[in-house]
Amino acid sequence: MANATRLLIKNGTLIDGSGGDPVPNRLLVVEGNRITLVRETDGSMPPETPDDRVIDATAKFILPGLIDGHCHISLHQGALPGVRYPSTAEFCSLSAAHAIGRVLRAGVTSIAVPGGKWFTDVTVREAVEGGLLEGPRMVVAGRALSNYGGIFDPDPYPAFEGTPADTAGVLCNTRDEFIRETRKQCKRGVDLIKIADSTWGDVQTVADDEIAAVVDEAHRHNVKVTIHSRGSTSTRAAAKAGVDLIYHADLATQADLDIIAKAGMPLAPVLTSPWIGVENGGAGRGLDDRVRDRLRAQLDTSFQMLRNARDRGISVMSGSDTGNASAFSHGRWHGKEAELFVKEVGMPPMEAIVANTSRNAWLMGLEGEVGVIAPGKLADIVIWNSDPLADITVLQRPSEISTIIKDGRVVDREAGGFRELPDELPRAVRPYRASPT
Ligand SMILES: [Zn+2]
Repeated sequence: MANATRLLIKNGTLIDGSGGDPVPNRLLVVEGNRITLVRETDGSMPPETPDDRVIDATAKFILPGLIDGHCHISLHQGALPGVRYPSTAEFCSLSAAHAIGRVLRAGVTSIAVPGGKWFTDVTVREAVEGGLLEGPRMVVAGRALSNYGGIFDPDPYPAFEGTPADTAGVLCNTRDEFIRETRKQCKRGVDLIKIADSTWGDVQTVADDEIAAVVDEAHRHNVKVTIHSRGSTSTRAAAKAGVDLIYHADLATQADLDIIAKAGMPLAPVLTSPWIGVENGGAGRGLDDRVRDRLRAQLDTSFQMLRNARDRGISVMSGSDTGNASAFSHGRWHGKEAELFVKEVGMPPMEAIVANTSRNAWLMGLEGEVGVIAPGKLADIVIWNSDPLADITVLQRPSEISTIIKDGRVVDREAGGFRELPDELPRAVRPYRASPT
């Protein structure tokens, strides 16, 4: 997939993703899918050849490709005219293939996908790896492991209906069922297991020993475990069980955060999705006032929890929850989390960039390989027209992107076998049961 020719990026300001100060870039060379040279000053320069592709980044800003640590690609399918069953495995795959193109063209060269329908996300990841589709690097979970009362056993559907394969959760109600599903998903090639506790965190639905059993099983398969955990006790249990990454954790107490800090795992608060719900939701989009009030409260507790977490040195990772529902359009919100980190939590802009690049590389299993620009690293690079350190909202505007390079290859932003769709499609409703996503 890499270029046969060399890419030479000349001039510009380099923000390398490590957290180091921005530096002037004289020349950056990409050969194959690797960065082979980064030079601030003239010094000895490799001779240019007619085959080189030269990119002039004068007055522009060279950053690692963004990494979204929470991006769904098969959770929600819009209601397209003429599509009768948008939730089939076949249609989910096509829809996800379309979505990842939008994600990549927003400057996001890697995503972690914590849950989706069928094994769509595994299949799409394989299609990208195999060169069939152009998309970001992906690590993916399967359907979230959820028991009665968990977020993916949603009201108002009675539990006896279970969770069909075209929903984003799979019911596991005993320790053995959690283990069995973990094993099955590992066999199918997931990179992550997603456990799903309750929607709002007011009760802990997954028992401590069930979380621990999943961690034990997944880790024997070298698969990371993530959890949707908002409540105090579930977050504490996840930390004690050695879950690799806790999503949300907004109701974690000071004592819970002490346990997380000691256990050493990061948190990914996922502020963007409740923010979208508060700012852009509404009765017409399925959010009544009561839900919006809860989301507003969730944001406030999240901001305070994050300040407390940062005081303890807990690593805060970035994820947008793009693709969660109809309002969470692919390609639109990936940079929002950085803005909320800066404006609401008090994180310095440089750290917000780190959280969206080198820090998230750990979740991709590519720590030290992507998310940082240096000789020897994989060439995932985005050149922006404006300085994200001066205005962090730049990262939300694909219109500010000059060039995207993924795996050493310049992304053709005009190409693609899929037509652009409107930003937001109406929610698809199946005849017998609405999608719970
Ligand atoms: Zn999510």
